[in-house]
Amino acid sequence: MVHDRSAALFDQARALIPGGVNSPVRAFASVGTTPIFVERAHGSRVTDVDGNTYLDYIGSWGPMLFGHSPDFLLEDLAQAAARGTSYGLPAPGEVEMARLISAACPAAEMVRMVNSGTEATMSAIRVARGYTGRDKVVKFEGCYHGHSDCLLVKSGSGALTFGVPTSPGVPAPVVKDTLVCRYNHLEEVRDLFAREGEHIACVIVEPIAGNMGLVPGKAEFLRGLREVCTQYGAVLIFDEVISGFRAALGGAAEVYGIQPDLVCFGKIIGGGLPVGAYGGRREIMEYVSPVGPVYQAGTLSGNPLAMHLGCRMLRRLDRGVYDRLEEKGALLEAGIRDNLKALGLDLTLHRQGSLLCLFFTQGEVDSYDQVSRCDTKAYARYFRSMLEQGILLPPSQFECMFLSDAHTREDIARTVQANRQALEEAMACTFP
Ligand code: PLP
Repeated sequence: MVHDRSAALFDQARALIPGGVNSPVRAFASVGTTPIFVERAHGSRVTDVDGNTYLDYIGSWGPMLFGHSPDFLLEDLAQAAARGTSYGLPAPGEVEMARLISAACPAAEMVRMVNSGTEATMSAIRVARGYTGRDKVVKFEGCYHGHSDCLLVKSGSGALTFGVPTSPGVPAPVVKDTLVCRYNHLEEVRDLFAREGEHIACVIVEPIAGNMGLVPGKAEFLRGLREVCTQYGAVLIFDEVISGFRAALGGAAEVYGIQPDLVCFGKIIGGGLPVGAYGGRREIMEYVSPVGPVYQAGTLSGNPLAMHLGCRMLRRLDRGVYDRLEEKGALLEAGIRDNLKALGLDLTLHRQGSLLCLFFTQGEVDSYDQVSRCDTKAYARYFRSMLEQGILLPPSQFECMFLSDAHTREDIARTVQANRQALEEAMACTFP
């Protein structure tokens, strides 16, 4: 495959944009290559500026549940734009969006629109702190909640630790109240609450973690978080920026049958335009300005075009969509498992509906310390082989694959075929 135009654009971009990209993972650095620059995308495919077309399993990192530019989403976009692209005043689409979110996710009795997942989690934490009058925030190693200061924290060896900023530019005092526990390790959370419970405002968690590969929360872990938060009067925040409207219509909350106090959304609810939302119990949401004292605002929040696309997207969701995604996900999973078996490879594969991750490691993977054992060099070889065969995977072992309703059985069969060759090439160095 020729990538001359992408390479030339990347050269120009690097002179003008840090790293040549507007979000780090797009640089393809961890898979040892340079990015493709996209010219267009339709259905399950993206085409780069060199004219190469790929089967896409990135799906813009989640929003494209129906594939790229589906007709139903775009049909009257031009008319919607002609009515104005931003008013800075209330508009009917915002009410409709709040109604759709609330109907799908009963935990979201009230909803506030923002412009990204980062804004949603940052705002939810501010509200939780304002509501409880407490400062400390509990998060989990390997869970990503966007790039706001207090959430950019990693923990040391995976053991419980006080926050240490992951990035220069985040002052230590800003993260001193961010406490980190191991994902799926409830005993650490219980111990922490036993010591600090009266100071903890909230626990924020990806109930289905999609930022350390794919690591679904264990039901007893999530149920335990619910119990501990209730016991100590802390706010339980589900970050459903990935899992919302993907794992099920009601997201992970529906899958596990657990009601968080606050819930954050992004990605799918904007139909591909920049959007985020947080919602939750009325009593907590009424702390938000102007009805309550917690300030949070946004010039473009509830943007009419984003509401137009987002509502279109949400109105399209029914049982059939999730049944089809489950069926396609199961097909892909079965094909990869058959390949692994045929090649005598013992790699860990996780799937939750339309999310998948093949870990280049063996055995149980339920928290970040296990994810970090993965052979990222093998993943990079695997990624590059898949790319050469026209299959675009996430350019990092620590991201998951996103299947869409636009992927066909034929697409999946092609992917499974490519997967076999890519596994052989990736593992040749490991198991000669
Ligand atoms: N929360 C989760 C679970 C995410 O996966 C992401 C982004 O991938 C975010 C929050 C941040 O969202 P955004 O990139 O829209 O700011």
